[in-house]
Amino acid sequence: MDKIKNIALVAHDNRKKDLIEWVGWNHKIIVDHKLVCTGTTGRLVEEVLKAKAVEVKDKPPVLNITKLKSGPLGGDQQLGALIAEGKIDIVIFFWDPMEPHPHDVDVKALLRIAVVYNVPIACTRSTADFLISSPLLREKYTPVGTDYTAYTSRKVAGD
Ligand code: PGA
Repeated sequence: MDKIKNIALVAHDNRKKDLIEWVGWNHKIIVDHKLVCTGTTGRLVEEVLKAKAVEVKDKPPVLNITKLKSGPLGGDQQLGALIAEGKIDIVIFFWDPMEPHPHDVDVKALLRIAVVYNVPIACTRSTADFLISSPLLREKYTPVGTDYTAYTSRKVAGD
């Protein structure tokens, strides 16, 4: 991971207010990184980052935000693919523990693939606070990966 991190931001509808508040609170740190968001979350993140700059009379930030498709329309899967390709360093994913969603399987897949690739993932505001205030956010960092060679070289029927 470079000093500038690729940070994914995703929030379910009931948690968007939480995420947007958190982004507003941490806007000075967040604008220095590259952001990848699911569609609706990305729109709101962009709005709050621009509004914050006006509020604190900063010059408009040069925002680096990639907006994927909306989560239920494939955005979670796009993000999972980016994780598998090593293109995401940190995931902030405020998922809703109180409601079922049409894309629950995609949510589970996203959480799983982040663990497979040892990507830090915050699902609560307090975890996100710890991540954003970590000194490692400003440093180069090489996560220890799990060795999956035993799995990829296993014998399967037909070998
Ligand atoms: P959204 O998707 O940002 O497009 O609302 C989030 C999700 O439900 O995964």
